[in-house]
Amino acid sequence: MISVLNLVIALLIGVVVWRLCLWFLRALAVPPHKPDPDMVVEAVQDYRCTLCGTELTVRVASVSKTAAPRHCREDMVAVWRPEGSG
Ligand SMILES: [Zn+2]
Repeated sequence: MISVLNLVIALLIGVVVWRLCLWFLRALAVPPHKPDPDMVVEAVQDYRCTLCGTELTVRVASVSKTAAPRHCREDMVAVWRPEGSG
């Protein structure tokens, strides 16, 4: 037999869970800040993942963050290519 008290407690728990889910989803939906145009510079730098061989070319880089990008949970290594080779 369900008492009124049990029903109220169940409704309160449901409301709390509902509010927590909404808060979590809203926190995930916030877009990242746009980069400051003064804090990025044009660059041409190739990187290679030492584990899987994936390569990427960075065309615009942040002035403040100079760390190499990561792939396969490892830092990628910079690849030097002579100008005009591709
Ligand atoms: Zn990789």
